[in-house]
Amino acid sequence: MNQSNSGSGLAARWQAVRERVDAACRAAGREPSEVTILPVSKTFPIEVIREAVGLGLHRFGENKAQEIKAKFAPLADCAIAWVMIGHSQTNKVKEVARYASELQSLDRLELAEALHKRLQIEGRALDVLVQVKTSSEETKYGLPADELPGFLDALRGFDTLRVRGLMTLAVHSGDECEVRACFRMLRELRDQARIVGHDVARLSMGMSGDFALAIAEGSTEVRIGTAIFGERAYPDSYYWPERSPAS
Ligand SMILES: *Cc1c(COP(=O)(O)O)cnc(C)c1O
Repeated sequence: MNQSNSGSGLAARWQAVRERVDAACRAAGREPSEVTILPVSKTFPIEVIREAVGLGLHRFGENKAQEIKAKFAPLADCAIAWVMIGHSQTNKVKEVARYASELQSLDRLELAEALHKRLQIEGRALDVLVQVKTSSEETKYGLPADELPGFLDALRGFDTLRVRGLMTLAVHSGDECEVRACFRMLRELRDQARIVGHDVARLSMGMSGDFALAIAEGSTEVRIGTAIFGERAYPDSYYWPERSPAS
């Protein structure tokens, strides 16, 4: 890799992440082509995302609707697909409906209804993943697992929402067994949903710290921020309320 014209190290980190993801696939007896990497660019500025576009990346995860909106126009020439992965407030559906290509954090009927209304106005449809709560951590967003079958049935009523799969955040723990159990649970929920006819092939699970475990449990998409872009300048509690210490 030639990174001499770029002091940021982004190219080298991206390359290293792709190699680590590929290695995790092979270790799990899977093809690297089965696992997509979603670079998570939240908190990183326009110039950094432009540099990533230069590396061939065109799809980025963000966890705030306002941030997607702010980045959309300055990067409009890059044909980026913006993926909303954070908790969506119902009053922010306008931004999601207008600027996002996909929402991975659909976790309640109220949000589906609000999005559907707004998408009809925008004349658009949106790929969605249902975010499921797979750990008992109090702070985690996500649909309770036992509500998933009924929720997927209800989503059939919204033709603007194309349900593609499931998403989760594993428990924040050093215990690999606990983390893996979250990923395994999402895979099993996906398999059960497919048996009853839901088209939910995708499993978005795994982040910088736990993607190898997620891949071993069948992840089809890992959401990687820190390992690609470096440490975020803001604490996670600012951009990521669900990981903030109990207040
Ligand atoms: C920030 C974020 C990620 C990426 O986290 P890293 O640990 O930086 O890789 C993944 N998923 C969600 C929902 C996020 O908000």
